[in-house]
Amino acid sequence: MVRKIGILTSGGDAPGMNAAIRAVTRVALNNGIEMVGIHDGYKGLLEGNFEILQKNSVSDILDRGGTKLGSARLPEFKEKPVRDKCIENLVQNGIEALVVIGGDGSYRGALELTKQGINCIGLPGTIDNDISGTDYTIGFDTALHTCVEAVDKLRDTSSSHHRCSIVEVMGNHCGDLALYTAICCGAEMVITPETGYDEIEVLERLHYLDQTVNKSHAIIIVTEKIVDVEGLAKKVSQNTGFSGRATVLGHIQRGGSPTPNDRVLASRMGEKAVELLMDGIGGHCVGIIDNQITSLPIDEALQRPNTSRKKMYRLFENLM
Ligand code: ADP
Repeated sequence: MVRKIGILTSGGDAPGMNAAIRAVTRVALNNGIEMVGIHDGYKGLLEGNFEILQKNSVSDILDRGGTKLGSARLPEFKEKPVRDKCIENLVQNGIEALVVIGGDGSYRGALELTKQGINCIGLPGTIDNDISGTDYTIGFDTALHTCVEAVDKLRDTSSSHHRCSIVEVMGNHCGDLALYTAICCGAEMVITPETGYDEIEVLERLHYLDQTVNKSHAIIIVTEKIVDVEGLAKKVSQNTGFSGRATVLGHIQRGGSPTPNDRVLASRMGEKAVELLMDGIGGHCVGIIDNQITSLPIDEALQRPNTSRKKMYRLFENLM
């Protein structure tokens, strides 16, 4: 039976990571397992930046965004000699297993460590919802709330001024944040890696909404890294009856107090991670699929297609 578990957060931070740290720590301690927090992801693992966690070490963090443990990137972690040094640090401190909260890059690191004899469990922590093996990631719901709040405000002013608001949201090659925001806000269009982008189509559709449907405003939600939204806004002003305005929501989407849904999700997933390690399982990641907390081998999870996404695009189209 595992006696001491380490926990770290890696890659981009996300609201709800603290709730997951708290859950893992409390569940482990309640089962007689010692807990060690590792600061700054795999970098802290390499540098031996460790902290013993007691129950009160994780008090007052449940409602905080970001991560109490800090996060960092360490590209050298892909090299075995670097991981060997990390394992040496773990062994020296009696840490027998690890919970890694992060994205798919962090999962790959966790898998490598497991292959080298340290059982690791991955928890999906990112606002982008871009991790296979789970319907939702920790932080997505909070980011969605931020986006919806912002777009609702933009809609008020857009309709007063016959504007087309083009709103860029995060997502990192995954359109979920844009798609769900579009559904929540009744957007006229959504542009994501999954929909693709055709400028002429967008301008023609706006022209139609203006001339034929008599819309007082239009909202387009766009995933980052697809199109220059400022440039698109100018073209909208030049080629349609709407005045185009671009808004890039940026890093505000990464912050804020986690929503109740994210706190519950993080807590459920944290509990599952400890249960898996207590069962001697490593190299898995935790997910939520059809509202059931599940676990899958990391390599399998990273290849699993997301089947719920298609249904959400269909829903968006049906709500037009
Ligand atoms: P995320 O976990 O959010 O996807 P990254 O892709 O930046 O973020 O990965 C976070 C960290 O995980 C990297 O800095 C690196 O330390 C580690 N990592 C990423 N890919 C691998 C890999 N293939 N093998 C080992 N470690 C990896």
